[in-house]
Amino acid sequence: MRSITTLDLQYAHRFYGFKGEAQYLHGHTGVLTIEVEDTVEPGVNMVFPCNEIQKTAWEVLKNFDHALILREDDPLLPAVLDVYEKQGIRNGAPQNKMMGPAFKTELATAYPECRLVVTKETLTVEGMIKIVYDLLKDKLNIAKITFTSGVNAASAEFTTKNKIDRCPLCGIALDENGVCPKCGYRKQK
Ligand SMILES: [Zn+2]
Ligand SMILES: [Zn+2]
Repeated sequence: MRSITTLDLQYAHRFYGFKGEAQYLHGHTGVLTIEVEDTVEPGVNMVFPCNEIQKTAWEVLKNFDHALILREDDPLLPAVLDVYEKQGIRNGAPQNKMMGPAFKTELATAYPECRLVVTKETLTVEGMIKIVYDLLKDKLNIAKITFTSGVNAASAEFTTKNKIDRCPLCGIALDENGVCPKCGYRKQK
């Protein structure tokens, strides 16, 4: 069975080199749906608590919210960084609090201190799904990701491989010692 969660991401981007309106900088509210698959954990009668899926995903994905997402070869990138530098906000601002941990993967690098994500490929809805799966695949048993942004939507299905041990009292993943980080439940050996 699957537990499903949805979160919103507000971001600005453009399709550099694309022949159409999308070559101009513009913004979206994207809706990301993550489906996590596993057996139903009998103690809590759920696959995984949806608020926990959301929390795990948001911790990383908040770097995309109220962010500018540019492809690594886009000439807007050095131009924007130059303005941020001159304004003194490139390395952070007191109002910029919603920062996740900086990350760098094959597909994307996050610079939370200036709310910027630099991508290898054009950030289409398909591109976003590839990035999100890559960031979360080791933390969640992701079976499907759907991303909708304006009139664009894409989805992809994945084979779940990790059998994650869950707490029978609160449903969240047990740590490497078989202990629940939330309630302290310990798995019987
Ligand atoms: Zn767009
Ligand atoms: Zn627990």
